[in-house]
Amino acid sequence: VGAALAVLLVAAGLIGYYVLKPMWDRRREEAPPPASGEQLKAVVLDVGQGDSILIVAPGGKSVLVDAGEPGDGKVVLDALKRHGVEQLDLFIATHAHADHIGAADEVIDKVPVGRVLYSGVPNPTRNYEDFLKAVERKGIELVRAAPDQTFELGGGAVLRVLGPTEPFFKKDDLRSGGNEPNANSVVARLDYGEFSMLLTGDAEMQTEERLMRQGANVKADVLKVGHHGSKYATSEDFLRAGEFKTAIISAGAANRYGHPSQEVLDRLRAARVRVYRTDFQGEVVITTRGTEEGNYKIETAREPRSGEDMAAGREALRDDSSRRGFIDFGDLPPAPGATPARARSNTNTNANRASGGR
Ligand SMILES: [Zn+2]
Repeated sequence: VGAALAVLLVAAGLIGYYVLKPMWDRRREEAPPPASGEQLKAVVLDVGQGDSILIVAPGGKSVLVDAGEPGDGKVVLDALKRHGVEQLDLFIATHAHADHIGAADEVIDKVPVGRVLYSGVPNPTRNYEDFLKAVERKGIELVRAAPDQTFELGGGAVLRVLGPTEPFFKKDDLRSGGNEPNANSVVARLDYGEFSMLLTGDAEMQTEERLMRQGANVKADVLKVGHHGSKYATSEDFLRAGEFKTAIISAGAANRYGHPSQEVLDRLRAARVRVYRTDFQGEVVITTRGTEEGNYKIETAREPRSGEDMAAGREALRDDSSRRGFIDFGDLPPAPGATPARARSNTNTNANRASGGR
């Protein structure tokens, strides 16, 4: 009995030291420094069915998180110019899919970039190789994202990496149709005084669960909704833990991937989160001085047009949990009746067929 008790005590000690202590340590991670009171800007660009988010910190340092689809280079470069950004201190490739790193090479070729952060989970496509080649060609330092890396952006603004955590999710760990690059997306939080924003790439619920289980600080004012509003992301539990006030969905007006899904819009509404959508409002600009809780302003490039129902989700042409599994970039054609933005993604779909992923 004595020996059994000793074993039990040792086991409890080990669990305490190796499981509970790291969780505790992560929870009481340093509070962000005080905000300088100068303006910080976070811009969710309108890149159609993809992601590209620009952060301009007080003092002028800037970060670009993803760079849209192939061919979106002009849209991203124009946005950088409009927001007074001539160089990027950091480019984050949340994951290797074409709707996130598609135009990264076009941006890297035109704008000086200090460092590139990536998930390290590869995707054997031409788009991804073009991105890596551009990084190499320009001699830019390539850093693999790891939890608790922090990037001081100046004026008190800090970007902190929360994921991916290792061991990486493997195909067998994921739901049917789930996908390794998505599940291992770079997840980061931006803190500026009282303001915070969570950037999730295309991470879905399994990643959200892992982050919460590991005690990562996911609580933030603004959520960049995971995976363009896919029903497999943004769980009720995650919304409860995040206590988000505002959610921004980056999706294309003509997508047939079911983004954003009705389920996610309903979950956001139930959690009383105010929703913005690039498909109906274009570019979304958040500005804050970081001084008071909840004190940030949001402007959109346009109002929703008649017939564009902010509360209405999209039907997927095919569900990616079907036996066929993951839906690749360009697998589903855009909806007919294209606006210029839709026409653009249409061209890219044809030019880059089977060259990436969603
Ligand atoms: Zn995506």
